[in-house]
Amino acid sequence: MTETFRAMVIDAVDGKPKGAFRDISVADLPDHDVLVEIACSTLNYKDGLAITGKGRIARRMPMMGGVDLSGTVLESRSPEWKPGDKVVLNGWGLSETEWGAYGRYQRVKPEWLIPLPDAFSMEQAMAIGTAGYTSALCVDALEKWGTIKPGEGEVLVTGAAGGVGSVAIALLAARGYNVTASTGRPETHDYLASLGATNFVDRATLAEKGGPLQKERWTGGVDSVGSTTLVNALAQTVRGGAIAACGLAGGADLPGTVLPHILRAVTLIGVDSVFATREQRMSAWARLARDLDKAKLGSMTTVEPMSNLPRLAEDIVAGRIRGRVVIDVM
Ligand code: NDP
Repeated sequence: MTETFRAMVIDAVDGKPKGAFRDISVADLPDHDVLVEIACSTLNYKDGLAITGKGRIARRMPMMGGVDLSGTVLESRSPEWKPGDKVVLNGWGLSETEWGAYGRYQRVKPEWLIPLPDAFSMEQAMAIGTAGYTSALCVDALEKWGTIKPGEGEVLVTGAAGGVGSVAIALLAARGYNVTASTGRPETHDYLASLGATNFVDRATLAEKGGPLQKERWTGGVDSVGSTTLVNALAQTVRGGAIAACGLAGGADLPGTVLPHILRAVTLIGVDSVFATREQRMSAWARLARDLDKAKLGSMTTVEPMSNLPRLAEDIVAGRIRGRVVIDVM
């Protein structure tokens, strides 16, 4: 194939990484075994950091951006996949060490792909994307830990109106958990209630430094904010409870104490989606297929052309995106 196509490529500008559109050819793609025609990608916080250069995401340059893809296999040198297979890819270093999904084609390793779940269209799979699949990993981790029980106590979701937060609320509510949403945007309360949140906290109250052991409130939590917010969430978790932490939208520091852990046996569960095992991925996608209401997914999703990526990247890093954004790469 000699076709050229438009791609979002991160490259050094005045020594700093920055995303810009560039025409590239299929021949420029890495020599991996499976060529995929990409139907859609998506916008995650990490994509925003990569394109704006506000985070050092691309570890080598030039780097094609885009963490996630859904698409159709065009060519395969692997027995695992054949032309026509519909596939999804989340993470595996795309846009960091491996060329990513912001363009019409990509060559990938066979083991990075999973089948597109029957429950979802290509667009819906990217409406979920890494953010939504990470929410499912977090809920899986909390249930595996075993201290949250549907209908008993409250489960906290921070960064509630963002991508991880929105999907986490919908997944938890579908299983019967009482969900408290922490947001800095009171105008999203109706939206968050429509996803299943029944209580709200102002994120500013969690962002202030608090005592090392506070009133016990959460049986569990999904945290995409980090920093003081995560420290307070841990300090407010009930004896034996757990918080699944996946993000750093509020900061990468953890300015807390060991007291919740050693005096209340509170657990901090780390969740990494990029190198999750195939088993963890299949379990998370099975949860999404079972529990994520399509109407709720639709209500949290907007579709944008790839040409809008520079503006969208600024918006997500500034916390202005609500829910999830699908990127049409055509
Ligand atoms: P979004 O931007 O969609 O959501 C983040 C939300 O966090 C915002 O909507 C906002 O919620 C809140 N927020 C933003 N800035 C601040 C701040 N300064 N202080 C407190 N809250 C803030 O991003 P995603 O949902 O895509 O990702 C969320 C985080 O999770 C990111 O840090 C991302 O890197 C991480 N992540 C990690 C993964 C992993 O594998 N570990 C995978 C996916 C994401 P509100 O307006 O409601 O307050």
